[in-house]
Amino acid sequence: ATAQIGVTGLAVMGSNLARNFARHGHTVAVHNRTTARTTALIDEHGHEGNFVPAETAEEFVAALEKPRRLIIMVKAGDPTDAVIDEFAPLLDKGDMIIDGGNAHFHDTLRREKALRAKGIHFVGTGISGGEEGALNGPAIMPGGSTGSYKALGPLLESIAAKAPDGSPCCTHIGPDAAGHFVKMVHNGIEYADMQLIAEAYDLLRNVAGYEPARIAETFRTWNTGRLDSYLIEITAEVLAHTDAATGRPFVDVVADEAEQKGTGRWTVQTALDLGIPVSGIAEAVFARSLSGHGDLRRAARGLPGPGRETLSPAEAEEFAARVEEALYASKVVSYAQGWNMIGAASAEYGWDIDLGAVAAIWRGGCIIRAAFLDRIRSAFAADPGLPTLLADKGFADEVGRAQDAWRSVVATAVGRGVPTPGFSAALAYYDALRAERLPAALTQGQRDFFGAHTYRRTDREGSFHTVWSGDRDEERTA
Ligand code: NDP
Repeated sequence: ATAQIGVTGLAVMGSNLARNFARHGHTVAVHNRTTARTTALIDEHGHEGNFVPAETAEEFVAALEKPRRLIIMVKAGDPTDAVIDEFAPLLDKGDMIIDGGNAHFHDTLRREKALRAKGIHFVGTGISGGEEGALNGPAIMPGGSTGSYKALGPLLESIAAKAPDGSPCCTHIGPDAAGHFVKMVHNGIEYADMQLIAEAYDLLRNVAGYEPARIAETFRTWNTGRLDSYLIEITAEVLAHTDAATGRPFVDVVADEAEQKGTGRWTVQTALDLGIPVSGIAEAVFARSLSGHGDLRRAARGLPGPGRETLSPAEAEEFAARVEEALYASKVVSYAQGWNMIGAASAEYGWDIDLGAVAAIWRGGCIIRAAFLDRIRSAFAADPGLPTLLADKGFADEVGRAQDAWRSVVATAVGRGVPTPGFSAALAYYDALRAERLPAALTQGQRDFFGAHTYRRTDREGSFHTVWSGDRDEERTA
């Protein structure tokens, strides 16, 4: 046995990850259900490093140094179970199965438990950065046991992206499914970021009256400031692109129905289970599904809306500056919600996740990589118990300075009939969190009226019920 690591599942992600290991001097065993993929990898890229191609599961396992480290990069779901069932009987106690697919964290909890009973470490690992990241340095979020990270961490860190300060974008997130959970929330935040950027584009297009090329320039400018991020950078690229066939802006020839593979939906479903409000992510998921409902949209197309005259050039410029503020403030809110969700799950599942470390490893490699993440890292470094990012002095000050612009952008959007569910939900969340009193008191009264659900009082301890159908006297129930 000569290989330090093995990769099974050699579609785009697996083969790029294997090449990344090989390029960093590791000997990599490679395997795929269909051997043609293994052969193609060796034919095309065998010269990049030391690969050990294996046709069968037995050959693959025999090629790995002990304790064996075997990465599964197959389609998430049943295929992952099929591959685990195939390999687990061939492994010894202390060996490690690393699942780098986009597994649902509940599957990871189940798989980890089953394999732990057999003495095998199961390391559910989030990997972000797409194909390009897998090859040149992804952000890596491994869960699993502390022991497995000792044997695996250095290898993963060697191929991970590097943050601007040179540290690897890989850290042990926490036990069992912590890594896949955090990867899921990463993708949820990615949905929210993309939605906010899309809303900013829509406003610049339909209120400021800018053409896509001009908007690309605006995003390029924003990308030199506090919004500096991969997603803003690629947004400018997409907007500047001209369709070769028609000569029109590319964005105008693409069907306006956004698709999704499911991790955003999982984030929202899980947030509902945890009771954590992640309205920014939820609005982003719903905005994608709404866009895909051609039937509903056609049925509603004739409904009346306000007039949409565009602004003068000077007004447009001023408006664009306000959109930047609204985008930034909304982004802070959606990250606050995402981190809140990670913190809640960490407590619920006993993961003890270092919230600042999550921000630190997302500074490079992943889709939401941004200068901004370093701010989150330092906010948690200053106060590891920070209840919400909005309570961090730096973020609070910035959002406070942005609030007038934020409100005026949302008001303008409403006035002009441009949908901004992300900006609006973020602002509503901000106002609800900072409110002295919420109308939830009335909700409690209603619940007590129709269902005797009881309420608590502001002035006395205990649980109370008002006899609404009778004399309306108050009874103490506990
Ligand atoms: P796919 O998700 O398209 O999966 C194809 C691979 O799965 C092939 O190697 C295929 O083998 C194998 N496979 C499918 N079913 C089985 C089975 N029953 N038994 C054995 N092998 C099977 O590949 P990707 O490279 O796109 O993604 C791999 C994983 O990485 C997925 O879980 C994905 O969610 C995750 N991921 C993907 C990202 C991306 O940007 N694409 C980013 C981050 C994570 P065969 O060749 O024999 O058909």
